[in-house]
Amino acid sequence: MNGRPRAYLTTPIYYASGEPHLGHAYATILTDVLARFARQNGYDVLFQTGTDEHGQKIQAEAEKRGLEPIELCDTMAEHFEAAWERLDISHDRFIRTTEEEHKAVVTAFLQRLWDRDQIYEGTYSGWYCVSDERYWTEKDIGEDKRCQICGKPVTFVEEKNYFFKMSEYQDALVRHIEENPGWIVPEVRRNEILGFLRQPLTDLSISRPKSRLSWGVTLPFDEDHVAYVWVDALINYLTGSGAIDPSAARESQGFDDVTGSWWPADLHVLGKDILTTHAVYWPTLLMGVGLPVPRRILSHGWWVVGDTKMSKSLGNVVDPLELGEKFGTDAVRWYLMREMPTGGDASYTPERFLTRYNELANVLGNLASRVTSMIVKYRDGVVPDAAGRGLDEDIRRTLSTVRARSMAAAKASWTSHARPMAMSKSASLGLRRRTPIPSRRSTKRSPRSPAA
Ligand SMILES: [Zn+2]
Repeated sequence: MNGRPRAYLTTPIYYASGEPHLGHAYATILTDVLARFARQNGYDVLFQTGTDEHGQKIQAEAEKRGLEPIELCDTMAEHFEAAWERLDISHDRFIRTTEEEHKAVVTAFLQRLWDRDQIYEGTYSGWYCVSDERYWTEKDIGEDKRCQICGKPVTFVEEKNYFFKMSEYQDALVRHIEENPGWIVPEVRRNEILGFLRQPLTDLSISRPKSRLSWGVTLPFDEDHVAYVWVDALINYLTGSGAIDPSAARESQGFDDVTGSWWPADLHVLGKDILTTHAVYWPTLLMGVGLPVPRRILSHGWWVVGDTKMSKSLGNVVDPLELGEKFGTDAVRWYLMREMPTGGDASYTPERFLTRYNELANVLGNLASRVTSMIVKYRDGVVPDAAGRGLDEDIRRTLSTVRARSMAAAKASWTSHARPMAMSKSASLGLRRRTPIPSRRSTKRSPRSPAA
């Protein structure tokens, strides 16, 4: 250990049944920006992203394409990795839930829950949405018996299930959220979770019978069942931290002492649609095995197109890679960071994209070219070693505010992106005011000067 501060940042792992889209790109670029900023500020950073590769949807999509599930996952993982390379993502680790190491950590995690008497066997009977892999109550689905998320018809199932005693952690979780106001940002999402927790928390079904779904991690205590895909997926954050050594004896796998590992994660970045799994299931599961919870959860909003949701079926999905090809990766990165208030929603329109794109050219680009040409013209092309005036104080203040906020409140990212534009504007204004009048007499270097 070198004594430097450390930061472990994660994106969600993306479901490998579809191609990377603007929403994935946003979350990944946001995390990338925070990771780069942490590195610049002297942190040792572990930045992890990856793909979520088990579950019914993958199994079904592979069948549809006439592939083995792993073949589909290999292809999609490659697509995601290629996308992140093109978008200049600086991740340190790309994790796949089909990796042997991850599967071993999931097994160890479930065994640990079992050993601590956190799991019991029960029967689930009720309604199930195959597409979202979740159960619904009679009340949820209404008269037409449709899934509340995807709208597809649900099916009635009655099956053996293993349940995690999530309800036992309700009070501890509420206390944690109340005592740590910045644990979930932004605040509107924190309040949403606190609202959710005012209802009694149920236990969590953590298994699916293999008779229905075989593409998953087999439970260590019942080989006829696989882990519920969400439980499997959430554990990726722990796998990446290196805290758990599944090959060690049960009592020394690392659950009692995470020293030397990257756990707990400093920041999970995720969309508001998967906030409950991250802010309720995940921390309670961690409490169940006796591990510390992540330090912060940043929940971002959704991208819509105009005023409609971006969706495959509507055919209005914006491809970030296509945009990058046309305007350059930096323009895409800038647009996404500048346009969406961190935590809120934003609407993609070509006009707004161009507005942000032109801002780079007209404000930052103009300033850069003005400064460069003035240095050439008045300082023989050498950057003068002069005492700072003008913007120095402003820049110093901005940087220190952003630094202080960056790790403590990642939501500050958006406002931080507005600052350089504001400063560039005032710098341009200052330059215009201070452009020396005598330059007009300098015929040698200024052929267009009218006062020759
Ligand atoms: Zn559904």
